[in-house]
Amino acid sequence: MATVERKRITDRTLGLLSVVAPVYNEVELVEAFYDRTRKALEGLNFELVLVNDGSDDGTGRILDRLADADPQLRVVHLTRNFGHQAALTAGLEHAAGDTVAMIDADLQDPPELIPEMVDRWRKGSDIVYAVRRAREGESHFKLSTAKWFYRLFDKLAQVDLEPNSGDFRLLDRKALDALLAMGERSRFLRGMTVWIGFTQTAIEYDRDERYAGETKYTLRKMVRFSLDAIFSFSHLPLQLSTYLGFLISGLAFLAIPVVVILRVVGSYLPGFGSVTIAILMLGGIQLIAIGLIGEYVGRIYDEVKHRPLYVVGRVRNEGPLALRRAEGTLRAPERVS
Ligand code: UDP
Ligand code: MG
Repeated sequence: MATVERKRITDRTLGLLSVVAPVYNEVELVEAFYDRTRKALEGLNFELVLVNDGSDDGTGRILDRLADADPQLRVVHLTRNFGHQAALTAGLEHAAGDTVAMIDADLQDPPELIPEMVDRWRKGSDIVYAVRRAREGESHFKLSTAKWFYRLFDKLAQVDLEPNSGDFRLLDRKALDALLAMGERSRFLRGMTVWIGFTQTAIEYDRDERYAGETKYTLRKMVRFSLDAIFSFSHLPLQLSTYLGFLISGLAFLAIPVVVILRVVGSYLPGFGSVTIAILMLGGIQLIAIGLIGEYVGRIYDEVKHRPLYVVGRVRNEGPLALRRAEGTLRAPERVS
């Protein structure tokens, strides 16, 4: 991908790096996370944005105490538990950096990797995502459900998501602005960061065990999360009924010669054939009609998501156009960069 691009003559210089993490009921580990992340980022100009996702176990108090002593730490308290993806979005919207890294607070993602991600960014990558090489200490259940989820998502969705990537990634400001311009309510951030494009590179890492406490992803949250992911990146479930409808109508047509043959051969139950065919036909037509409505619903869904139609990376020779836009005679499109 990067080979087509002309090699950059100078590396990018880092203004401010924001590191964003959502935190939900993590009393046992917030301080450890804070200390280790600070240490890992030594030498970089950074700020830390921690989002308290409605914790009710004293995590909020610890965060406030840390923030009192550290002007580089911004704490955003949400009024209740809004969930991982919403909390992460809140953090991204409260980040001031020119590049932003998102990371889990449970130390499964090593913060020591962030300087390496920044290096990739310096070399010209707009998005650097971390791919898990090994996953320590996670249950068999978690691993196999994750595997199946990524398989299904790959089959159904319109974006190519790296199977072993989580939300641990670093984004350039213009990529972040594009991400935040996506107006959908059910957010699957790792899919959305792929959708926006830009120059993306991967780095590998070993995913550690959770530092302390238990996973905050209950089974219910996990199911919700997977459904959000699939339904916001695929229309296939809506089209299912159309396919089924055609299949069943097809069966009705196949049934016609069968009934005729049975009639000729003689083993014939009066009324049976015509009723079966009528039922299959009507069932098929109804399913097709539902599928048709589904197509419209899908389009309505696309419209209300209010995603930008495209994301512009850069424009060459924009001068005269920019001038006319500045005069106010032309409407400026929604854009990043
Ligand atoms: N988290 C959150 N809100 C939630 C659930 C989780 O902010 O409703 C945070 C949690 O504190 C952690 C991160 O999201 O920093 C990832 O959660 P977890 O480690 O429980 O998920 P897993 O690694 O098991 O998928
Ligand atoms: Mg975790």
